[in-house]
Amino acid sequence: MADRSTEPPICKRCGRSRADASPAEALAWSTQNDPSGVSWLCPACARAHVRDIEGKLPDEYW
Ligand SMILES: [Zn+2]
Repeated sequence: MADRSTEPPICKRCGRSRADASPAEALAWSTQNDPSGVSWLCPACARAHVRDIEGKLPDEYW
């Protein structure tokens, strides 16, 4: 069984390693599909990221 993701994911925003998170917390990490591949967000940053999206609607959208 080959696992291609042998390296522990790093949070895209704060640079924290998912390997440092507790098993329960590690489950709360979320992935995003970027043009360059998959990027990870730790729970705290994922929450902040959602806030950003909800709080900052792009002007050109209107
Ligand atoms: Zn983070």
